[in-house]
Amino acid sequence: MKRKQPSSVVTGAAGFLGSHLTDLLLARGHKVIGIDNFITGSVDNIAHLGGNPDFKFIQQDVTEFLFLDAPVDYVWHFASPASPVDYLEFPIQTLKVGSLGTHKALGLAKNKNARFLLASTSEIYGDPLVHPQTEEYWGNVNTIGPRGCYDEAKRFAEALTMAYHREHKVKTRIVRIFNTYGPRMRLHDGRVVPAFISQALTNKPITVFGDGKQTRSFCYVSDLIEGIYRLMLSDYALPVNIGNPTELTMVQFAGEIIHATKSRTKIVFRPLPQDDPKQRKPDITKARKFLKWEPQVPLAAGLKKTIAYFRDKV
Ligand code: UDP
Repeated sequence: MKRKQPSSVVTGAAGFLGSHLTDLLLARGHKVIGIDNFITGSVDNIAHLGGNPDFKFIQQDVTEFLFLDAPVDYVWHFASPASPVDYLEFPIQTLKVGSLGTHKALGLAKNKNARFLLASTSEIYGDPLVHPQTEEYWGNVNTIGPRGCYDEAKRFAEALTMAYHREHKVKTRIVRIFNTYGPRMRLHDGRVVPAFISQALTNKPITVFGDGKQTRSFCYVSDLIEGIYRLMLSDYALPVNIGNPTELTMVQFAGEIIHATKSRTKIVFRPLPQDDPKQRKPDITKARKFLKWEPQVPLAAGLKKTIAYFRDKV
């Protein structure tokens, strides 16, 4: 008997991660319905899918009721502004998509008897006092600070997801996504990867915030999406960190970008934004154990591809 073609809904399908996820699902034989309101997503990220009979696109705000005729096996909830600059500009939309949008996406999954995966974030750990961050850590978040709209929306989204899991028996998954980079990031989204690369490529000073001793750990997008796909197919319902544990200070990271772009630029220091986490590195023991996953793409290789993408954009 022929196996039924799986059907997925991706919210935020025109975003950086949503569009890469959509590509992977199509490559693995899914039909995909992508939803996006283009608040931070871009039509360029899905333009190559025009004419693909397995891809359908709906322009909609996912905080509004989601009506779909078709059967759905998987709901991947990726819609949300995700850069600090974006959620500072759209704090209410960020809170709404994390709360009302997650409610609608969970409602759709429940109604269709589909599996649901929430794109959560390392931001739920806030400015972490535990290092590296394990999934058991409850976090250190300033609810009323500038990042509170994102952090609390995602914390609420996790709580709602677990409530649907426990109360309605929806098969849910939660991925906590750590800093990720790759092609299709927006040049001006304010995040450190596009900022440093575009500065280096145009020989403008690299703007390191604070003293640059704060750390991040960067995962290449293809690694991240593979981990997330495995999580959806697993039967593990508690949150799982997906990220690359290779940790760098922002000064070290600026050095990597200067080296990789062969730029003649210099570093300048700028004020540290409020509540900027001082350290971040995923503990990926659970991903290794339950998903048999770990990152494959070294920083130099990932940066090469990302820089090639940005060369055409600057
Ligand atoms: N950052 C920086 N210069 C920039 C943009 C960001 O030094 O032009 C720093 C920022 O202060 C933070 C880190 O880079 O410590 C990562 O910032 P990003 O906005 O990419 O994401 P975050 O991990 O803070 O959510």
